[in-house]
Amino acid sequence: MQAPLVDRFGRLHDNLRISVTDRCNIRCFYCMPEEGGQYAPKQEILSFEEMARFTRVAVGLGVRKLRITGGEPLARKDLHKLIAMLTEIEGIEDIALTTNAVLLGAQAKALYDAGLRRLNVHLDTLDRERFREITRRDELPRVLEGIDIAQSLGFGPIKLNAVAVKGVTEADILPMARFGRERGIEVRFIEFMPLDSQGLWDKTQVLTMDQMLERLRAEFGELDVVPDQDERAPATEFRYRDGKGNIGFIASVSKPFCLNCNRIRLTSDGKLRYCLFAVEEMDVRALLRAGDDAGVAAAIRENLMRKWIGHEIGATQFVPPPRPMYAIGG
Ligand code: SAM
Ligand code: SF4
Repeated sequence: MQAPLVDRFGRLHDNLRISVTDRCNIRCFYCMPEEGGQYAPKQEILSFEEMARFTRVAVGLGVRKLRITGGEPLARKDLHKLIAMLTEIEGIEDIALTTNAVLLGAQAKALYDAGLRRLNVHLDTLDRERFREITRRDELPRVLEGIDIAQSLGFGPIKLNAVAVKGVTEADILPMARFGRERGIEVRFIEFMPLDSQGLWDKTQVLTMDQMLERLRAEFGELDVVPDQDERAPATEFRYRDGKGNIGFIASVSKPFCLNCNRIRLTSDGKLRYCLFAVEEMDVRALLRAGDDAGVAAAIRENLMRKWIGHEIGATQFVPPPRPMYAIGG
């Protein structure tokens, strides 16, 4: 067993996010441009075998948890085949998928059969017109159907990720919370981060955790912080006092959780990133294609040693990363 992945600040890294594609079938305004986009050429995108190879090396360094993301991961053909390859890797304790769920209904059974159970479904609103405005596509019915099918197949836990943007989604906070309470699904509101492709982000558009909590308390009564939360998980979770489940927040802007970060990232074109906001990255595609596992392991360690203490959103010296969210993998 090799030494665990501990960075210069003593943070243990056991969590890997793999982006399987930089393409997407919808166009959320806070992530993608309305038309076009800059995509890596197909030959630069890692194959499933290369992703599995990378994962085996990372597991040898102590990685235990995986999240598959994108772009839209279900837009990558036969994703269930990758899931099946990953579930077979000894040492992986947890695999989750982050998806917009447009294609979930069609693929849920194959994903379930491949061993996937944990899902984070991205859904900001239950209002069809606002969904269309946010995503520039009319896909809400398919998303809701995908959630129904996943629940009926027995996926769990399913969580909903809702990006909160001031002036856009305020009216959705309570309906989304109600939906989660009725369906037994935890909703997690994500503060709008400066990762959009059009440079639209501005601090004044961030709907903060505290602002959302105020609305939720006014409607549902006091919410209690869930005790004994995993310190290294990005969400801050609260519990409804009437026993109708939990609600969470990813308060990356108002309450950054960098000090507990345990994540490393692999982009779909084979770049290592130590942070969502990193402005530098390291190529491992050539090493993977050469079958150089020792080189890949050394690159993972070297990249981690460069990791900073945290991002500085809101500070004057903050520089947004050169890649937008869809090309990094959220
Ligand atoms: N397409 C999948 C989805 O939407 O879930 C996976 C990739 S997406 C980039 C991952 C997550 O990033 C989503 O939950 C989405 O809500 C979130 N996201 C995208 N752009 C964001 C932004 N500018 N600020 C905060 N969250 C964002
Ligand atoms: Fe696509 Fe996800 Fe980005 Fe929305 S947030 S455009 S669903 S990659």
